[in-house]
Amino acid sequence: MKVAQIIEPNKPLKISEIDTPTPTGKQVLVKVKAVGVCHSDLHLWEGGYDTGDGFMKVTDRGVRFPVIPGHEIVGTVAQIGDSVEGIRVGDDVLVYPWIGCGSCPTCEKGDTNLCEAPQSLGVFQDGGYAEYSLIPDYKFLAKISGIDLEGAASLACSGLTAYTAVKKAILNSPENILIVGAGGLGLMAVQITKALSNANIICADLDDERLNKAKEFGADNIINTNAIGYGQPEASKNIMSICNEKGPDSIIDFVNAPPTVKLDLSVIRKRGNIVLVGLFGGSIDLSLVTIPLKAITIQGAYTGNYNDMIELLDLAKRGVIKPIISKHYSLDEVNNALEDLKNRKIVGRSVINP
Ligand SMILES: [Zn+2]
Ligand SMILES: [Zn+2]
Repeated sequence: MKVAQIIEPNKPLKISEIDTPTPTGKQVLVKVKAVGVCHSDLHLWEGGYDTGDGFMKVTDRGVRFPVIPGHEIVGTVAQIGDSVEGIRVGDDVLVYPWIGCGSCPTCEKGDTNLCEAPQSLGVFQDGGYAEYSLIPDYKFLAKISGIDLEGAASLACSGLTAYTAVKKAILNSPENILIVGAGGLGLMAVQITKALSNANIICADLDDERLNKAKEFGADNIINTNAIGYGQPEASKNIMSICNEKGPDSIIDFVNAPPTVKLDLSVIRKRGNIVLVGLFGGSIDLSLVTIPLKAITIQGAYTGNYNDMIELLDLAKRGVIKPIISKHYSLDEVNNALEDLKNRKIVGRSVINP
């Protein structure tokens, strides 16, 4: 089978032919129909993250090169091991990629995405930039029908992240919720929030076109922070006036850069909840006394568990979210696919069709 591998960071991915694996036991071989090209693939390719005071190398987190990237996999079951139940050859499936060690208390609770010894597909083990992908256990598959197959790919990652962030943000039944960043994730979060809560949705971004989309998708108020700047008092003032001077009860920050988090902290309501999602990087000074005095919660959201993905698939079937695929690539074009994403040429999601 044909595969694309990262051999070493920042070098072009290598296309090669390797033996197609044969599934045994609980394993399932999936013929990849589409695999999403995700920002985290870029981080993997670049070899790490900017943490604000240095560079966090993926190899220090357990990644070993060469690796086949790709964690947003949809495809058709091609072959199954002899202990597989409930999945048949020919089934269309979405792969849950956030696999853990399987034996720690976090994994036993089902939160394999938060395992301290992650085995995620397309990161710590080979993923879907390939004609076929070997899934270690049939329990990581979800059968899909009734929705656009390729569109479903991003539900395993960006959609899942948006969904769990919204779940965390609406736990306190917010009157007002601020969504920072109206990119792919932010727009999905607007749709999900609209479907799951009665909160007044405020969306902040730098771009009018994206903000108009946010409005179309259900945002009640939009704020273009480009003219005023995320870190400027004017932006805070505008948001406060929308919230009757009380501030948003919850904020989901899909950018998570110093200027946006400063804005979040300046407007968050007493007892409010800030969910940080973006992987932009950087660092800020925190006014420590504000945190107890306002009794605020600052938390992170990173993907979601298998059950969250099933709930999200249901929302997609009901038409609550409509993932948009804007560009297709062949496996041979994998390097262009990553370059285009890096150079911000992609609106919504692009996929590779191996
Ligand atoms: Zn574990
Ligand atoms: Zn992803």
